[in-house]
Amino acid sequence: MSTVILKAECLCRAHTFTHSVPLSTLPLRGSSCHCTSCRHVTGALRGSADAVWPGPTADIVRVAGEPPRHDGDDADNNDGEKNNEGNAKLARYRHSPRVNVLFCARCGTELFFEEWENAEAKKSGAEAAYAVFTGALNAAAAEGPEGADVPPITSVQVVQYADHIFVGDTRDGGALPWLRGINGEGQPAPKVWLGGRNRSEEVAEGVRWPAVEALAKFEDGLKGAEGDAGNVPIRCHCGGIDLVLRAGEAQREFEALQKSGKELPWFADPVTYKGVGSVDGCDSCRLAVGSELHNWTFALVKHISFAGADQGGFPEDTLGLRAAVDAADGTTRDPRFGTITYYSSSPEVQRYFCGRCSAVLFYAADDRSELVDVAVGLLDAPDGARAETAVSWAFGSPIVYRQDMIGTWREALVTAVERDAEAWRIERGYPKFWRRAAKEAAEKAEQEKADKEKAEKEKASGAN
Ligand SMILES: [Zn+2]
Ligand SMILES: [Zn+2]
Ligand SMILES: [Zn+2]
Repeated sequence: MSTVILKAECLCRAHTFTHSVPLSTLPLRGSSCHCTSCRHVTGALRGSADAVWPGPTADIVRVAGEPPRHDGDDADNNDGEKNNEGNAKLARYRHSPRVNVLFCARCGTELFFEEWENAEAKKSGAEAAYAVFTGALNAAAAEGPEGADVPPITSVQVVQYADHIFVGDTRDGGALPWLRGINGEGQPAPKVWLGGRNRSEEVAEGVRWPAVEALAKFEDGLKGAEGDAGNVPIRCHCGGIDLVLRAGEAQREFEALQKSGKELPWFADPVTYKGVGSVDGCDSCRLAVGSELHNWTFALVKHISFAGADQGGFPEDTLGLRAAVDAADGTTRDPRFGTITYYSSSPEVQRYFCGRCSAVLFYAADDRSELVDVAVGLLDAPDGARAETAVSWAFGSPIVYRQDMIGTWREALVTAVERDAEAWRIERGYPKFWRRAAKEAAEKAEQEKADKEKAEKEKASGAN
């Protein structure tokens, strides 16, 4: 019988856990938790996605150390210090009294949930169970001993998601509309629960939650919202990241820019002036955030501030941000940068995250230092988890970097997710992403021109 090699690994490859399982034991049972805690600890709009890790747990404990048994507030946690280079420990963050997150302190990748039935079980010394963040999971098919046929990895369902839980926390459905087909074409759809599984309201297959009529309209924005009312908090689970996106100000500024005949930044919607929101399938983002299909929106660095009464002094661009975050703790580093740290996945790229709770914050690149990608999971907008008053979503457009999933066990989800997102976009009457609309219009005009020329040629040759 063939086996499948499962590998849980972080973005910087400091941590790799490998385990082979017989093909017949797959798929692993997966779950997506859309709760606010999970969104704020990962930075993913989807929250968390995990499955029971079938490998030996002793390997994990050996690297992370024995879990503490007390119930103190912060005692389990990583110190959150700047740890970009040297420190690649498998850090522990106390997510709740019965759940810890284990993540790579160097790159921020969440690798495992360490969990107990309840806090009492943890205190009494019961063994923890370990669930792997499915975004950190890679898989390859290996030949069995008797040379059995090896199925292509694209046909192997490594994880089958059984449910989406705590969707009610999102208020607007969060990432659910495009994740109902996450198991791929022809596979059972995950169940949807507004709260915990089997103990909250279930949303039946084919039913929208919330109803499309209840959602914010495409035009709704923060242009008219003055002061703090136009700000969207950017917060991680531990509170060590506490910033705001000054979305109202950005929208007013972009409108004025357009009226003065100047070009808008590429990510600014020319109708609503909101930043575009994307569905990203790239491997690095998947690893960084712990689940498939990360969601970014975009902002100019100058539209980001510290939260609280003293908002001033946030860097003007990502070069300034990097220098400020690099400053040694306690000496010149502004304490308002809190637990912000970063990992350079390549020399000109910084992936910012929370060094204490692991939440993904920004993606920054030196060649476009005026802007950052912002992890949507950290936004606390009043209208819901998708923050539609601040984000103009490219619903139904091809998944960004979809090619990274082609040829892997995730291939089956690509078309199902794109199709679901497009159906939902049309149902709610949300316009196409303006760049996609422009591209399709150009292609249509091109086709019409070609057809016309062909018809004229045929007419001419017929006349001869
Ligand atoms: Zn790492
Ligand atoms: Zn959760
Ligand atoms: Zn944090």
